[in-house]
Amino acid sequence: MSGGRIPRAFIDDLLVRIDIVELIDSHVPLKKTGANYVARCPFHSEKTPSFSVNSNKQFFHCFGCGASGNAISFLMEFNHLDFVEAVEDLAAFAGIDVPREAAVAAADKADLQSLYDLMEQAADFYVQQLRTSAAGKQAVAYLKKRDLSGEVAATFRLGYAPADWQALTGRFDQQALLAVGLLGGNDNGGVYARFRHRVMFPIRDKRGRVIGFGGRVLDDSLPKYLNSPETPLFHKGREVYGLYELLKTNPKPQRIVLVEGYLDVIALAQLGISYAVAALGTAVSQAHLELLFRYTPELVFCFDGDNAGREAIWKAMDAAFSVLQDGRQIRIMLLPQGHDPDSWVRSQGVGAFSADLQASSVLSDYFFDHLAAEFNLGEMEGRAQYVNKAKPYLLKLPYSIFKDMMQARLQEISKSAVDVSDKTARLNYRLARTPQKKDSAPPLERRTLAMLVQIPSLIGVLEEQGVDWDALDFKGADKFKAILQVLLAEKPATTGVLLEHYRGHPDEGIITQLAAIKLEAGVEQEFSGAWEKLLEQGIDARFNRLLAKADSGSEQEKEEFRKLSMHRSRK
Ligand SMILES: [Zn+2]
Repeated sequence: MSGGRIPRAFIDDLLVRIDIVELIDSHVPLKKTGANYVARCPFHSEKTPSFSVNSNKQFFHCFGCGASGNAISFLMEFNHLDFVEAVEDLAAFAGIDVPREAAVAAADKADLQSLYDLMEQAADFYVQQLRTSAAGKQAVAYLKKRDLSGEVAATFRLGYAPADWQALTGRFDQQALLAVGLLGGNDNGGVYARFRHRVMFPIRDKRGRVIGFGGRVLDDSLPKYLNSPETPLFHKGREVYGLYELLKTNPKPQRIVLVEGYLDVIALAQLGISYAVAALGTAVSQAHLELLFRYTPELVFCFDGDNAGREAIWKAMDAAFSVLQDGRQIRIMLLPQGHDPDSWVRSQGVGAFSADLQASSVLSDYFFDHLAAEFNLGEMEGRAQYVNKAKPYLLKLPYSIFKDMMQARLQEISKSAVDVSDKTARLNYRLARTPQKKDSAPPLERRTLAMLVQIPSLIGVLEEQGVDWDALDFKGADKFKAILQVLLAEKPATTGVLLEHYRGHPDEGIITQLAAIKLEAGVEQEFSGAWEKLLEQGIDARFNRLLAKADSGSEQEKEEFRKLSMHRSRK
């Protein structure tokens, strides 16, 4: 979805609504230690965990490489997303829509809802056609021939699109039908029904809304399968078929099997294997894999063993390598020639099929074996070609123990010291994160401000007693005051929300450092005392400065000096 700025308030609200611990835990399994959750850092290689996530602050920080930020920053870095994509993903994680600021976007949204409604009604119409129309009987006969039960057909809401060109236009708005791709337009301004005389497979998003359709012919005519085109509702590269139905029976599957067709998904579900999904007639994309890894730690690509299947798997390698961090696993299962998952399970039985899944090759084995078959590793030239082919893939792996192991294996096979650690990227990454210069403010100021940044509810204390801005007098006080003003104006719910306010701001680094400073538990009890001491220090500093120019100062300064003297004598 595009167009329109995302409202600031929405982003703040989103950051409050989600829990960063839950979010990160779904990508990098976390362990609780004390007030924090820790893991080995996903952004640099390490043996002992220095990556820590704090639920109160809604903030992560790595004491090893300095990576830190809020939930949005995490998604941006971990999944290589831009800001808007990360917000969209986070919203999806929270199960809500991203609103857009522009008036156009508001109109779009109203339109979108009507398009969803239309898809729903169209799905109902196709179901009804399957059940009641004379031609629908042919579709039922086809499904029976495929041994599909009425029950599974109902679960997946299978339908039938009649051959009649006007079946839809008589019932629904023509413009809307064009918008959702159920009608196509031709060059001379005419329209045609995209799906005719086909079994219809509604494609649903994670929330169960119908966003597109797949249609299959009842005989051998071509094209055998037809999908909805890209529409405002439907993005092939981001959706998989069957995920909604899968999550309904099993919200946290141990593994998800990725198959090639709709009918595979449905047939497997009928046989009791209700953890299969299919890509929608496109190559497997990184977005597909990221989506699936939200729900499971293991994916199995179960493809036909013919050349097309092998090619499809190799095409998916790019995407697969980009998403493989520690804790995620991809396996490859090629079916014997002439079999699809349906026929294979029917001939082998469910037990044998799941045993096959568990015994299937891990991606690393498949990858190295596939390449080994291509080159002569007995010769140096062959090994060099092998390295050249393999290296770009390994470079895509996120920093992880797994990456180190893949590199070691490549070195062993190629008998060379090939390095895929991409040191420049890593170095730049560290430089960008290492504090540029030490904050010049002495510890008390820094500590007090860190308390406010980490426990923003303390702002209430200041609001109650009012801030004596003049008394804030120390080196770096201007920066201190500027940040304090933002805190008072924004009243961020968490550190994560405050960080969002500073995204791209020159002071972003300072705020991040303050957020990462280690404070003891219960430190908020000290806040009032620390604040008072800070003011006293400021007043002392000012007094001393005025004292130094007691004779040369202006009338105003002399007056202030008198007041300060009285203030001090009362102590
Ligand atoms: Zn790190």
